[in-house]
Amino acid sequence: MEIQHNFINGEWSRADQTSENRNPANPEDLVGVYARGGKADVDAAVAAARTAQPAWGSASPQIRSDVLRRVGDRLLDRVEEMGRLLAREEGKTLAEARGEALRAAQLFHFYSGEALRNPGEKLPSLRDGVEAEVTREPLGVVGLITPWNFPIAIPAWKTAPALAAGNAVVLKPADLTPSCAHLLAQVLEAAGCPPGVFNLVMGRGSEIGAALTGHPDVAAISFTGSERVGRGIALDCARGMKKVQLEMGGKNPMVVTAKADLDLAVAACLNGAFFSTGQRCTASSRLIVEAPVHDAFVEKLTAAMTALRIGDPLDAATQIGPVVSESQLAGNLDYVRLAGDEGCEVIGGQRLNRPGTFQSPALFLGAANDMRVAREEIFGPCAAVIKAADFEEAVAVANDTQFGLSSGICTGSLREATEFRRRSKAGMVMVNLPTAGVDYHVPFGGRGASSLGGREQGRMAMDFYTSVKTAYTYAG
Ligand code: NAD
Repeated sequence: MEIQHNFINGEWSRADQTSENRNPANPEDLVGVYARGGKADVDAAVAAARTAQPAWGSASPQIRSDVLRRVGDRLLDRVEEMGRLLAREEGKTLAEARGEALRAAQLFHFYSGEALRNPGEKLPSLRDGVEAEVTREPLGVVGLITPWNFPIAIPAWKTAPALAAGNAVVLKPADLTPSCAHLLAQVLEAAGCPPGVFNLVMGRGSEIGAALTGHPDVAAISFTGSERVGRGIALDCARGMKKVQLEMGGKNPMVVTAKADLDLAVAACLNGAFFSTGQRCTASSRLIVEAPVHDAFVEKLTAAMTALRIGDPLDAATQIGPVVSESQLAGNLDYVRLAGDEGCEVIGGQRLNRPGTFQSPALFLGAANDMRVAREEIFGPCAAVIKAADFEEAVAVANDTQFGLSSGICTGSLREATEFRRRSKAGMVMVNLPTAGVDYHVPFGGRGASSLGGREQGRMAMDFYTSVKTAYTYAG
């Protein structure tokens, strides 16, 4: 099979090593053979970006806008191809994968518009005859490090605003899912992105991550991934005095109150906890249910969960695809065992007896919020169900977490919904909707151990990718 190379300085660049990438639903299916870059590749990519950035950053915004629009157009033309590739590589269903591919195109179109905007401020100074002007400038070279679970949407939602603001980019996608990032590089090349402005270095984070995060010519790092890796990157960036943005894990609560429409609540929890095989940072992993409706809710949710069709993501009837890898599945099954050891009644959570890394979704009934299964991110199709005496207790349990990415409430009461929106300590709050599933034109991000640095997506994403300059002018 043809080797897919890194993309450095506008050229497809051979690496010393390669990695095979297989379909988690069908290990016989070889998705691709990808370059496994080393430190020299990172250095070459950063050097190319550093050389290309000044011209790109000072070019007319129309040029950046046009490139991004053409990228969006070309991604739209390739949605079906990208969706299939993504489903084969990551394991989400074809419908979810197509939606993600479409989202990538929409993001490039959105930031094509933002490239023209770059707003500033002009104010009278406090001194006579002096004017103060606030403008935004690109940072220079930015390093983007992305996880495996949204392998085209996340590279898109970092690359598009970074380029719109006039930066040059070095993207390092997750080694489990490089194919869509490789396709993105093809599209950027075809759309006329100047050489060196966008560079792709595939490889293992443990082997090349530090070369990027510690590189003196990289001005900023935007990372999405686990809290453990994120903390290390924050320290690297602090040492190098780099701007850093981290989007990490979650243990997102979904409160179901006694006033909820139970069918709506079950649909929201089913989607939030188990769709995309639970492999979403915004997945509902703690279902906090008020005592009066607890048993009825559990009965309905269990019935809906056990009826979910698990199978090949390319089969239109499939609702839940495989877990992304053997090691992720082993980790999920460890948590299923731990839930039993911690005293939960476990429903589901078995490895399926078929080729591929398939697992049935799991509910941990009778969970307490201080159990490890209610505190640690599992990142699989597993949800802990916690009974709360009343609304007050439910809100307190929801907020009792080190994370703070997304939260949700299902209720028919406007008062409860309003209270929850105000008191939730998460960065995103959903009312009668799954905790996962967001729009791209509004900010995305969390609090606590979930996020650090500015928000992603929407207009606010531009804050991270720009540096503010305040100029004072006295005309004389
Ligand atoms: P991960 O932290 O293992 O890897 C993320 C990226 O970091 C990969 O590209 C990896 O190669 C790289 N990396 C690994 N070690 C590195 C190092 N020492 N230096 C630099 N880079 C390094 O995460 P993952 O398993 O790919 O993704 C799952 C995690 O991502 C979950 O915790 C999930 O919650 C999180 N996530 C968060 C968001 C969000 O927006 N908050 C979105 C999606 C996923």
